[in-house]
Amino acid sequence: MPEATSNPAARRLARRTRGFDARVAHAEALLREAAEDHAGRIVQVTSLGVEGMVLTDMVARLRLPVVVATIDTGALHAETLALIDRVRVRYGIEVEVFRPQAQAVLQFVGRHGAQAMRTSVELRRACCALRKLEPMQRLLAGRSAWVSGLRREQGETRSLVPFFALQDDGREKFCPLADWSEADVWEYVRRHDPPTNPLHDHGYPSIGCAPCTRAVSAGEDARAGRWWWEHGEVKECGLHLRPAAVPA
Ligand code: SF4
Repeated sequence: MPEATSNPAARRLARRTRGFDARVAHAEALLREAAEDHAGRIVQVTSLGVEGMVLTDMVARLRLPVVVATIDTGALHAETLALIDRVRVRYGIEVEVFRPQAQAVLQFVGRHGAQAMRTSVELRRACCALRKLEPMQRLLAGRSAWVSGLRREQGETRSLVPFFALQDDGREKFCPLADWSEADVWEYVRRHDPPTNPLHDHGYPSIGCAPCTRAVSAGEDARAGRWWWEHGEVKECGLHLRPAAVPA
């Protein structure tokens, strides 16, 4: 039972995290069940954002046999990359790191330039396909399930995120934080203190590749800082849309 308080900020937080313990219990139960059902074939795919760190903390705390993996696109902030070591030091867990094919990236940059993603949606998606989707296919190879930190509150494209779903490729995808609010996420951080990206404290609620992420202003959508120059497009890299074909 939350303690009564006369502090207005604490009162507001208590309102926004009402039901928090039940949501944590549900997320943990779902993770446990997923780990049992897919023993040895399940991976948590983290972009090393705060939701990913919450899930990694649960995996470590509950000692679940879930591999933790990330994609180093070659364009991440140093602060993001540093989290790979911080996870190892804190939990004794090795984060598996998948990288794009160096030759394919060199060819793409040579042909279209280092800022190609800013010139058209097609080139931005092609860059995401090379740097994210192709490594993701290797990351998922041999796995029957994956865990993601998607939350419904993160924007229109995520508003219907289910707790679990069977994908077209036959894999099961679990989103234990689907019903969590941003306040829930930070309440979890306050209680369990997982490592987090210092960029979150500088106006970056959602952190992707450095060239495609900016800080947001007060009142802006959490994902407003991702591909902010695009308008009216689905602002997703494709990892969460559906298993996608990757250009050769
Ligand atoms: S987020 Fe930007 S830099 Fe990263 S893969 Fe997509 S287009 Fe390329």
